[in-house]
Amino acid sequence: MNKLIITIAPTGNVPTKKLNPHSPLTTDEIISDIKKCVALGASIAHIHVRDENMNPTSDRKLFKDVLDRLDEDKVNVIKQVSTGARGGENTVEWRGQMLDLNAHMASLSTGSSNFPKGINANSFDLIEALASKMYANNLKPEIEVFDTAMLFNAIKLCKKGVLKAPMHFNFVMGVPGSMPGTPKNLMFLADNLPEGATWTVCGIGKAQVPIITMAIAMGGHVRTGLEDLVYYDQDVLATNEMLVQRVVNIANAVGRDIATVEEAKEILSLVSSSRLKDEIVFDA
Ligand code: MG
Repeated sequence: MNKLIITIAPTGNVPTKKLNPHSPLTTDEIISDIKKCVALGASIAHIHVRDENMNPTSDRKLFKDVLDRLDEDKVNVIKQVSTGARGGENTVEWRGQMLDLNAHMASLSTGSSNFPKGINANSFDLIEALASKMYANNLKPEIEVFDTAMLFNAIKLCKKGVLKAPMHFNFVMGVPGSMPGTPKNLMFLADNLPEGATWTVCGIGKAQVPIITMAIAMGGHVRTGLEDLVYYDQDVLATNEMLVQRVVNIANAVGRDIATVEEAKEILSLVSSSRLKDEIVFDA
């Protein structure tokens, strides 16, 4: 079976120190958690940032702090920025202000859905504008599918040339107000993927363990982290490390090897620096 890509989503928009004191909210805390999770086997970091009041923001400067620190500290990880932060205007200028920085990937919702509080509003104009800025900056979109229509929207946008194949999807399952995290729903999504697409799944809260176990057995990839759940089990608050270690343990039990960062780049068709060098040599 193909190797398993683990994404760590350490921060998200929702967790607070009150909900879980282990939530990494400052640059130092985010960097520290990403390093620990990479050491355990995570190869993608899905990055959100917080402002001085610890509210979610798309502030370019704060994203730059995190991305630059990862580079300075030579953390070998695929850097994925979130365009899903609330707290500002719902425009490409606000939501996409970090897309010209030194990341590899960016999240892109291809439709609208409900959050427990507020609306995940993504018009086709906004989706196209964000996608075009991602490709202009050589970022691969991770298509965030909160509901089934978003998968079919992405397929249409690919036919239209707005999105490029092979696409990479993240099935976000179990958000109250969106698609429930059930085995039948995951099978439906996986069955309707376009040829050559890759996929990962994140289960929110109680949906997580069953749905990631199923994805690992099916050959998909998985995301975990405090963005998706703050409790490890009914009584125990999670840390990002505990959540990544649990994914590794399930993968070991299922018999699935964990992808290195270079292997993850191959699987996701990301242009790595080593491949770039090969191409230059070949051209010469
Ligand atoms: Mg996110």
